[in-house]
Amino acid sequence: MVLRSDKFDDVYFSIDDGMAETHHVFLEGNNLPDAWTDNGDFTIAETGFGTGLNFLCAWKLFNETATPEQRLHFISVEKYPLSRAQIAEALNPWYSELGNYIDHYLSLYPLRIPGPHIIRVSNNITLTLWFGDINDTMPEWSGQVDAWFLDGFTPAKNPEMWSEAVFKNMARLSHKKTTFATFTAAGFVKRGLESVGFNVEKTKGFGFKRDMMRGIYAGEIDTIKRKKPKTIAIIGGGLAGCAMAYIAKQSGLIPIIYESSDRLAAGASGGRLVMINPKLTAKPHPHSEYYGCAYDLALRLYARFDDIDFQKCSSRHLCIDDDKNRRFTGYIDNLRWHGDHIYRDDNGHLIYPDGAILCPEKLCHALTNDVEIHLNYDVLSLDEIKADIVVIANGYAAQELLSDDISVHSVRGQVSWIKPQTNIDTNICFGGYITPQTSDGFHILGSSFQPWIKTTNITDTDHQDNIDKYNNALNQSLDMNDVIGGWAALRTSSKDRFPIVGHLKDNIYISTAHGSHGIISSVMAAEIILAMATGSSIPASQDVVINLSPKRFHKY
Ligand code: SAM
Repeated sequence: MVLRSDKFDDVYFSIDDGMAETHHVFLEGNNLPDAWTDNGDFTIAETGFGTGLNFLCAWKLFNETATPEQRLHFISVEKYPLSRAQIAEALNPWYSELGNYIDHYLSLYPLRIPGPHIIRVSNNITLTLWFGDINDTMPEWSGQVDAWFLDGFTPAKNPEMWSEAVFKNMARLSHKKTTFATFTAAGFVKRGLESVGFNVEKTKGFGFKRDMMRGIYAGEIDTIKRKKPKTIAIIGGGLAGCAMAYIAKQSGLIPIIYESSDRLAAGASGGRLVMINPKLTAKPHPHSEYYGCAYDLALRLYARFDDIDFQKCSSRHLCIDDDKNRRFTGYIDNLRWHGDHIYRDDNGHLIYPDGAILCPEKLCHALTNDVEIHLNYDVLSLDEIKADIVVIANGYAAQELLSDDISVHSVRGQVSWIKPQTNIDTNICFGGYITPQTSDGFHILGSSFQPWIKTTNITDTDHQDNIDKYNNALNQSLDMNDVIGGWAALRTSSKDRFPIVGHLKDNIYISTAHGSHGIISSVMAAEIILAMATGSSIPASQDVVINLSPKRFHKY
């Protein structure tokens, strides 16, 4: 049985043979693989991701026909994301041809959270899958598209997917060799595409369909030559720097890390264990948009590493007062996360079932395996560093390298290591937090928040504060005898407590002020910087980019 949408009363692909339809309509309709031969990098954008069958076929064809130096970027949008199980079932008829591709893609399939999800299926193929409505999402896309796959449901049943805004955005993102193909031959689609500058021809449709359409953009816009940086120097060997090195390496760049101390993760990225938890706002806002996708991206990446003490343990946020109740209601009612990833339990507590823990120091090592690292290297001036791209990722010390004020400050945080307690097998957040046990048998209880203290010595006062908060919120009776150690560090924060990520000047970028959420924020920040530096489509909405911008506090 071919997958069918009740909402749109239509099928996801041809009932004859979906894969053959993909080849006939979208691949041959866009002259693939010929169009990417001798063409360097290639970008396909699709309207209507569905099961991902079109993506899988394009990926396979690219693997079989492109050179190893070429890269494929596939961008797509989906308002009603299917579950893994639905996709697996729908794609089952092509398992013999696409089995390895399907398994790999399903293992990387994102959480159903609105926004852009970057899925690197191999070193040279990236899928950016935007969950959201096409008319909200497409205006956020940047870069240039070489081929369009128009695959919304039948125009008569789903006109939103064939709107004037969609056509205008296609034209905005096209250059004079950009092609499109679609299964439909509907008159208003033809007229719409022509009105924004596409030459349209009708050709033989797939199976029983008489016609389909294909064409080329007739506008004047030239292909923008894509930037091809080779080397990237990263100042700072904490999470932000290590994630930057990892993502750059995945994209074929050569990263070098310069770290002033004698080891990686020497500052706030140290610590025995850290929680992976999103940071949300009660109403839709660029901050929660960023953190939602960052949370998904971090979880998917970290789950692939061994030896970082990664444990999916879920997180429970206690509903301790009216304010929390109001916020939790807002998250669920307003942010459009799928109920698989956020819900309230019988007591009104908020549950993130995908919440996890891991050792950040081990993660920093895993991310930089095979990366050139210079320890004890204090970069005193940016002039010392020669590379195609430079990324400043050294926490609050970033300010010392820059003449312009970037408004960062440090915030001391102390955690307490607590003897094993019964019944703590999930992260519990209550203003403070406690984690399940580390592999060496203690819980992390945290954390103090002290912007006014600039030292990292461990104090009993801070232990006692951590304990008091926990005892009050959970009606427990921990005392100092339960504390077997602790750790303190200076995190970096900005004026508005949102990270500082983006372009500074010339070839210089910055990734800092990740506060207590560096574990999720660092990878997303790295992806955004990489896209900016290479001129590819940025995996963030324009509002998110503005909110992250290092220039938001000062115009310079
Ligand atoms: N290309 C898909 C595949 O390979 O499986 C099939 C796409 S199916 C014909 C159309 C898709 O568009 C559906 O998955 C549907 O949920 C999605 N869709 C419908 N309306 C949408 C909208 N307004 N914004 C984004 N996606 C939408």
